[in-house]
Amino acid sequence: MSTPFASAAMNQARTVLLWLSRRHSLHRLVTEVAPARRLARRFVAGETRAEALAVAAALKERGIRTTLAFLGEHTTAAAEARAAGAEYIALLRALAAAGLEPNCSLKLTQLGLHIDRALAERQLAAIVATADEVGGFVRIDMENADLVQTTLDIFSRLTGGHEPGTPWRLGVVIQSYLRRSEADVRCLIRAGAPVRLVKGAYAEPPAVAFPRKADVDANYLRLAELLLSPAARAAGVYPAFATHDQAIIDAVRALVRARGIPPDAYEFQLLLGVRRELQVRLARAGLRVRVYVPYGSHWYPYFMRRLAERPANVLFLLRSLLHR
Ligand SMILES: Cc1cc2nc3c(=O)[nH]c(=O)nc-3n(C[C@H](O)[C@H](O)[C@H](O)COP(=O)(O)OP(=O)(O)OC[C@H]3O[C@@H](n4cnc5c(N)ncnc54)[C@H](O)[C@@H]3O)c2cc1C
Repeated sequence: MSTPFASAAMNQARTVLLWLSRRHSLHRLVTEVAPARRLARRFVAGETRAEALAVAAALKERGIRTTLAFLGEHTTAAAEARAAGAEYIALLRALAAAGLEPNCSLKLTQLGLHIDRALAERQLAAIVATADEVGGFVRIDMENADLVQTTLDIFSRLTGGHEPGTPWRLGVVIQSYLRRSEADVRCLIRAGAPVRLVKGAYAEPPAVAFPRKADVDANYLRLAELLLSPAARAAGVYPAFATHDQAIIDAVRALVRARGIPPDAYEFQLLLGVRRELQVRLARAGLRVRVYVPYGSHWYPYFMRRLAERPANVLFLLRSLLHR
């Protein structure tokens, strides 16, 4: 049971871990110690594309879909940003060639948003063109709150000419911890856009984000209801509910049952290594389940955000460090 004291302590642990996730000086310390590498392997498929494809193939065997993510963010060198763009193009082609669904998730700051917005946008357009070629899909992950407007603007520009009735090749993410998200969801519904709904993984100030978990959860349900509303369905919205929260998953399932919405009209998404038994249980119940499969050597910030979501993971890590 969560007491006010326990919940304040959790919030503090989360804030510290998210702060550490942005400290590059700690990067080597964490990524070079064996227990951290072992724990990270639970959340990350491996360092190479081949390892990620093998994980995707194994999940497919169990009836679970995947979206692959090449790890990297806040890139400051143009050559590195271009290499990430090229990796995504190669990834989509490799997935298609292997008979796996060409579905990927990427970050605009990885494609060079902080260096030159035009570079990031050009690279994204090329990746989406490849997705179109191979019948795939690209999701733009949502990053810090100060990037939301730019991300949504780039998304609208690239999907502006979307022909009704043709498949969407690009989708976005909305974070329920942001106060602005209801207005953004209403706007995306009008466009019929594919939305992944998450709670939000970054440290944001109370001016832009709800500080209390109960408000973030309540907003998640409010936004889920909008994404499953008759207006959203009429506009062709295909929502993805990305969460490991059993209460929210149950509430969404109750909502789709009550509204008679078929299981192919939405999906649940979970992260690799998180609540694996739930992933299998949902898939066995005949629901569409997609797992986010990250790979690559830049796993430090991603790993720290996963620790922040469940500070018990840190205790586990500290214990294994002490008993090395
Ligand atoms: C497919 C997918 C894509 C995502 N994309 C984005 C994105 O683009 N932008 C963004 O800001 N965030 C993204 N997130 C992260 C999201 O914002 C949350 O930080 C994360 O999902 C944890 O919130 P929760 O909904 O699972 O609920 P919580 O209330 O945090 O967790 C519910 C329960 O799930 C379990 N759990 C949750 N996280 C972990 C963990 N790391 N390790 C072990 N157990 C855990 C615990 O049992 C916990 O009690 C994504 C999440 C998923 C699943």
